[in-house]
Amino acid sequence: MRAAAIQIIEKLTAAGHTALLAGGCVRDMLLGREPKDYDVATSARPEEVVRLFPGAKTVGAHFGVVVVRAGEHDFIEVATFRSDGSYSDGRRPDSVTFSTPEMDAQRRDFTVNGLFFDPLAGKVIDFVGGEWDLRLGLLRAIGVARDRFEEDRLRLMRCVRFATVLGFDIEHATWESVCGLAEKIKSVSIERIRDEFIKIMLHENRVRGFDLLVNSGLMRHILPEILALQGCEQPPQFHPEGDVFVHTRLMLSLLPPKVSLPLVMSVLLHDIAKPATQTRDADTGRIRFNGHDKLGAEMTGEIMRRMKFPNDVIEPAMVAVEHHMTFMEVKKMRTATLKRMLSRPTIDDELALHRVDCLGSNGKLDNYEFLLAKREEFASAPLVPPRLINGADLIQLGWHAGPALGRLLNAIQTLQLDGQLTTKDEALAWVRAHAPVADVFEEGAEA
Ligand code: ATP
Ligand code: MG
Repeated sequence: MRAAAIQIIEKLTAAGHTALLAGGCVRDMLLGREPKDYDVATSARPEEVVRLFPGAKTVGAHFGVVVVRAGEHDFIEVATFRSDGSYSDGRRPDSVTFSTPEMDAQRRDFTVNGLFFDPLAGKVIDFVGGEWDLRLGLLRAIGVARDRFEEDRLRLMRCVRFATVLGFDIEHATWESVCGLAEKIKSVSIERIRDEFIKIMLHENRVRGFDLLVNSGLMRHILPEILALQGCEQPPQFHPEGDVFVHTRLMLSLLPPKVSLPLVMSVLLHDIAKPATQTRDADTGRIRFNGHDKLGAEMTGEIMRRMKFPNDVIEPAMVAVEHHMTFMEVKKMRTATLKRMLSRPTIDDELALHRVDCLGSNGKLDNYEFLLAKREEFASAPLVPPRLINGADLIQLGWHAGPALGRLLNAIQTLQLDGQLTTKDEALAWVRAHAPVADVFEEGAEA
């Protein structure tokens, strides 16, 4: 990728244009990180870029962006130096004019994102003080912070995201502006907000990002339900750490660096229904949250649909929230129930959720370790093996198709998973002894 970007720069330079690496890739190179992609900024106009690189495609004609193919699956954006005109929609400039590298640096969001690098001369070109801010680990808006966030409100989220993933402090005036303008995030599309939120939550510094979202006021407009956890008291014998907010934040901090999106969302949302379900026993004053798992799963679905997460992220997060309380009872479960639980496709994330749920409260991992041991123990045979008998076998014995037959098949499978039935003959004998049907009336079936 880098070699391809440099080749493009060489070709543009040979044709008499200025061409530089720009933005995020320069920042990452100077930090010694692998850039995600390489962007080229040039004095060449889009038509000229297309002429020099046959097959290149203009993607943002309006913004002067051309995409040049750099390999089978790799593309490099080549953008003409530009200045942004006025902003009236809080997201995109009304117009752009092609300009100089210096002006192009001024339109970018943060000083550390406003650097250029001339790979042919091996020189950093810095019009905005970004090199120093990189060394200081400081995220600073270019120009007048307040104006920059007013122009494009997505920058409010980008500020929290870059502070999180770079581990940078936020310069004072920049942070004051984010806090002062947090409410304006409402004018940005939820998809863009969600994408930044995901990058924050997937990064290992996610707790810092969480704190920045809460403290800036952005969380109030993205996920206000999280703030309702503040001050939601819990029984101290189970939750010595404090209220539901403290517990949830602590769990975030205990996650491994790499997590799946459903896992981190289930951590954030597993107790989201506690405020709504909290009761106190009249005599003892004991706090309870009956049904917070079921209601929590529903709320998780609602919130994640509101944030337009895809279904394949929403569903596993809901499953994890719905079942998170059953982990407290695993030692009392029958084998069949354990096997069904351990065969859920979501079980790895559910175990990880349970682990931080314990570590973020009483610290006891006995149920977690019990489940890992059971999983080992069951590992030799498939957790849920093929059924010993099927519906057709039961119909032969005189059963009618219908819900009762389905329930009987499940009961037989439970005995199989428990190890009480091991062969087809045993299963058939059990049916003859315990469920000699024929006289069961099924709605819709012939008598
Ligand atoms: P990464 O790709 O690692 O997420 P990046 O810094 O490359 O980070 P991009 O969104 O790819 O971010 O944008 C590339 C560059 O374009 C940025 O470094 C910045 O200079 C500029 N830029 C992107 N979005 C904005 C914005 N909303 N406002 C101002 N400048 C922006
Ligand atoms: Mg980028």
